[in-house]
Amino acid sequence: MVTWFRKVFNPIFFRQNMQVNLLNTIVLTIAGSQADGLVDMLYNKKNMNEFLIAKKLKLTINQVRNILYKLADEGLVSFTRKKDTKKGGWYIYYWTLNLGKSLFRFKERLEHEIENLKNQISTKKSATFFSCKHCGLELTQENALLHDYTCPECGEALDIKETTVEVHALEKEIVKREQILAEVSQELGGVIDKEDKARVRKTKAELKKKKAERDVRRKKVAKEKAKLLKGKKGKKKKK
Ligand SMILES: [Zn+2]
Repeated sequence: MVTWFRKVFNPIFFRQNMQVNLLNTIVLTIAGSQADGLVDMLYNKKNMNEFLIAKKLKLTINQVRNILYKLADEGLVSFTRKKDTKKGGWYIYYWTLNLGKSLFRFKERLEHEIENLKNQISTKKSATFFSCKHCGLELTQENALLHDYTCPECGEALDIKETTVEVHALEKEIVKREQILAEVSQELGGVIDKEDKARVRKTKAELKKKKAERDVRRKKVAKEKAKLLKGKKGKKKKK
């Protein structure tokens, strides 16, 4: 839980592109350190050939596929495939990073961790723990009572464990995550806006295309009708 987070808090992280690093962090968390460099390759591009990815990451095609399948399971990447006619008709997969979905997953993860930390705090605040200053042994209240508030290892009287410091440390962790969460939410808002606009544009274009096709069909029908009518009239005249 802490390792990926430490990476986010690396000072270099903030100097570089926020979005790329957020994505890199989530990809590494899911797919492991072998996936390092993948986001740089996929970011702002579409349909990357998997053989090219393997070559650039210095991995085998199977290693790359394993990574990408893991990410695809989470919806972070998607693919199209084409038959390779040159190499015996095998499929080649072309991969695209799903920016919105990736940021969304990252946001979910942060929220989950914040929830988790809050639970830890409430446990620490509600329960009393006892400890031995000699052996560092930690006991719950029930266990301490069972041993008559003496250490089961050395017999020393147990102290009530002070949790203030621990709670404070956990609260700090929450604040850090909330800061990142705010930034992720902002990034995500921008991406969703962009994707929405793109979708609206696409729908409009599709509607326009359909209308044009309909018009063509209508004109054709009208023409056929006109032809038919003309033919009938012609026949009538002959009579
Ligand atoms: Zn002890």
